[in-house]
Amino acid sequence: MIAGGGIVGLATASRFLERFPDRRVVVLEKEGEVAAHQTGHNSGVLHSGIYYKPGSLKARNCRAGKLAMETFCDEHGIPFERCGKVIVAIDESELSALGRIYERGQANGVECELIGPERLAELEPHAAGIRAIHVPESGIVDYREVCRTLAELITLRGAEIRLSSRVIGVRQQADEVVVESTTGDVIADMLVNCTGLHCDRVTRMGGVKPEAKIVPFRGEYFELKPEARSLCRNLIYPTPDPKFPFLGVHFTRMIDGGVECGPNAVLAFAREGYRKRDINLRDLCESLTYVGFLRMAARHWRTGMGEMWRSFSKRAFVKALSRLLPEIRSEHLDAAPAGVRAQALSTDGRLVDDFLIQAHGRVVNVGNAPSPAATASLNIGRLVVDVLAERYE
Ligand SMILES: Cc1cc2nc3c(=O)[nH]c(=O)nc-3n(C[C@H](O)[C@H](O)[C@H](O)COP(=O)(O)OP(=O)(O)OC[C@H]3O[C@@H](n4cnc5c(N)ncnc54)[C@H](O)[C@@H]3O)c2cc1C
Repeated sequence: MIAGGGIVGLATASRFLERFPDRRVVVLEKEGEVAAHQTGHNSGVLHSGIYYKPGSLKARNCRAGKLAMETFCDEHGIPFERCGKVIVAIDESELSALGRIYERGQANGVECELIGPERLAELEPHAAGIRAIHVPESGIVDYREVCRTLAELITLRGAEIRLSSRVIGVRQQADEVVVESTTGDVIADMLVNCTGLHCDRVTRMGGVKPEAKIVPFRGEYFELKPEARSLCRNLIYPTPDPKFPFLGVHFTRMIDGGVECGPNAVLAFAREGYRKRDINLRDLCESLTYVGFLRMAARHWRTGMGEMWRSFSKRAFVKALSRLLPEIRSEHLDAAPAGVRAQALSTDGRLVDDFLIQAHGRVVNVGNAPSPAATASLNIGRLVVDVLAERYE
């Protein structure tokens, strides 16, 4: 039994049925469709694995997961493109961080090259930068389409996807687990919790104190108007701040031809708060009274204020974008849908970086599956099934 019909839940179901074709699988998803949250609001990048600490779960599973995702797309006729990406250093102060990313890329076996301004101008004629890393193997895909295909495949193999079914309770018993949902109880051997923005709550339902709490951060985007799309050919990313690797606006060409610009990162007032006015008092109170959040906010309030300022001022957002593309103007941009990221925060205010998969009795909790979890999903599914297999083999 799997809770959550995002890409991690569906990939896990698919991997499980490949290995145990005779077993029954039920996926409970609280929304009326699959991929309704993080998976359906992401940037559609097939990440190469260049950023991640060598040996980490992210590094290992992003590489293998990307290959598996490309093969899956080939087999099922899902369009994807290896369009390549540049990570640029705008000035001298960013060169050492850029160098460290390049070293990580080498250590992780990513095909990448350090390039100067002339080559950068050939690849991305409108981008600024005194040096850059070119990653030819980075790609783009539509993860919603991947999920629709995964859902079809697992249904054909006998799985049941129960939509509009919210998990509301979990009772672990000696020889089974009873999963209470808004559409009735399901009795299973094992439960896999892949509920993304709600994974800490479902972990707690199973009688386990989660290692980290999920605090939702909204990422707001603009998109280039069609007449300005030629400013960005593929993927243009900044050199990330090692303290906040997920911050920093970038340009992403989508598989449908649009170009997404952003995001900032601001506290969302609801776990699924895609608009500024979306407020859920329970979610907001939990975030604001969580010691881990307060510690993080005390340490990094300046960075947080900058992100919030960009949320209210299009001019400030454009200024941040213009570091990468100096020609960009406010009139090139239309507002685009936001995404909400499940940020796992530990009580000491640290951002949990790596994927987190832990078994507690009859429940396997995916406690942290941030980017590049969409790229890596087929491999994360495999890791979860390895844990389940200890029960079945
Ligand atoms: C703005 C943004 C951009 C990103 N860009 C990229 C990218 O370009 N490339 C990449 O690889 N990764 C990217 N990511 C990360 C990636 O999208 C996520 O890591 C991935 O989608 C996580 O998948 P998931 O299945 O764990 O979570 P989700 O997609 O959030 O799925 C969880 C599901 O569980 C359901 N659920 C929750 N609670 C319950 C309950 N109680 N009962 C039943 N169902 C429940 C939800 O409705 C949801 O459908 C991005 C993320 C964001 C937010």
